[in-house]
Amino acid sequence: MDDLNFLYDAISKGIPKADELKNLEQMTDSDMKKLKKELIIKIKEYKKQLLIQKLQRYRAFSENNKSKIKNSVKCVCYGCVSTILTYHISYDENTAVCPYCGRKTVIPYFDDIDYYLRTMHDYFNPEFPVDEENNDFWY
Ligand SMILES: [Zn+2]
Repeated sequence: MDDLNFLYDAISKGIPKADELKNLEQMTDSDMKKLKKELIIKIKEYKKQLLIQKLQRYRAFSENNKSKIKNSVKCVCYGCVSTILTYHISYDENTAVCPYCGRKTVIPYFDDIDYYLRTMHDYFNPEFPVDEENNDFWY
């Protein structure tokens, strides 16, 4: 059902164009293939935009986050892709600093974040090294 809502949303944004839909019955197989290809590309772009918006929302949690961090038992850092127990965290004014990489890229842990952490790193800080075997702050 989510997929249908998503498709409806995509179509309501003008994908594909209304006149293309009106002529659907008269379309040749090659037109249909072309339309399908275009629709798939548009849907992929749309999904990518949704993902980027989500990553940006999550990134905002790394700014002025001292009180939120202090309310979590553990945090994650998308600068170095680490999971960190909160008592290892230090602060620069109101912003948490990662004890492992020294960057202000720490966000409170929440269920969804395991799935997006690596993606956040690769999207925002692909140049930062990830050393997944050397995380001292998990214990
Ligand atoms: Zn880090």
